Amino acid sequence: MDTVNKLINIFRKFPTVGSRTAGRFAYYLMKLPKEKTDELINAILELKNKIKLCEFCFNPYEPFDSAQGKIDDGICFICRNPARNKNLLCIIEKETDLISIENTKKFNGLYFILGGTVATMRKEDTGHLRVEELKKRILQNNFSEIIVALNPTPEGRTTSVLIEQVIKEISSAQGGPASGWKITHLARGIPVGGELEYADDETLKSALEGRK
Ligand SMILES: [Zn+2]
Repeated sequence: MDTVNKLINIFRKFPTVGSRTAGRFAYYLMKLPKEKTDELINAILELKNKIKLCEFCFNPYEPFDSAQGKIDDGICFICRNPARNKNLLCIIEKETDLISIENTKKFNGLYFILGGTVATMRKEDTGHLRVEELKKRILQNNFSEIIVALNPTPEGRTTSVLIEQVIKEISSAQGGPASGWKITHLARGIPVGGELEYADDETLKSALEGRK
């Protein structure tokens, strides 16, 4: 049963999937007709071949089809949109948070996907986060406001504090605005320990509007 176990081990690494669900997935696939599994394999391959990460915000996007005369400039449809406010930056943990905030239609600026959180206040633990990229974006753009919109979980809070320290450090070391960048946070309303992706639109809307 090595073949089945191999698959179960792969599924177990999926977010929110435990061993039992991973097993169900594997046995479900075993019963599927071959054309259905081929469809799945092709969809995964297409995902890997067609989807790129935005060079500005790291949002996954599907580049324009160059065969239709459109050019891929390396940035996603949000960053490319001339109607967006380029002076407003919203820092979030992950892709699904971007979708949640976009769904509220209350944010018209740019995003930056940090790529996770840390559980400790040690800067050396931030290696897997896009801290250096974030510094570059902040230094190379003229943001009037930076919203730190990480989840109100213990890790999200710790990471927020670290990120704010980083922003303040580059502000004093590399000549940001004299008073530093204006940093804001989502207003309370999202339950403590909750996550943006599970907050309802109305709650997230008022958390955005009431940011300070
Ligand atoms: Zn982008």
